[in-house]
Amino acid sequence: MAERTIFHKIIDKEIPSTVVYEDDEVLAFKDIHPKAVTHLLFIPKHFVASIADVTSETAYIPGMLILKAQRFAKEKGIDGYKLTFHVGRKGGQEVPYLHLHFLSEQSLA
Ligand code: 5GP
Repeated sequence: MAERTIFHKIIDKEIPSTVVYEDDEVLAFKDIHPKAVTHLLFIPKHFVASIADVTSETAYIPGMLILKAQRFAKEKGIDGYKLTFHVGRKGGQEVPYLHLHFLSEQSLA
């Protein structure tokens, strides 16, 4: 079995994080080293290591993360933000658990 990453432990609440949104499929929490006024990470509860590992079965996941981030932003009145996936070590991905970065210079209400 693949090693559990820090994000598995955040989902299982073994490691504390500041959760801003959670449902059956997704967890969103504040990045510990924010690179913007609001820097969140949206992760799926179904584990996929990276965009590079997405298959036809898991292709719904990136779109789902984007949709949850879009709805979250609307709810919070944030209308300007960046969404980023880092892919692979050479693409800046440090944690091998697929995640969507949400960055905005607008603060959470
Ligand atoms: P990556 O570089 O893999 O795309 O992004 C991983 C992100 O996870 C980084 O921005 C990093 O600051 C964040 N991160 C790493 N460890 C933790 C942690 O224990 N808690 C939280 N909240 N964020 C973390």
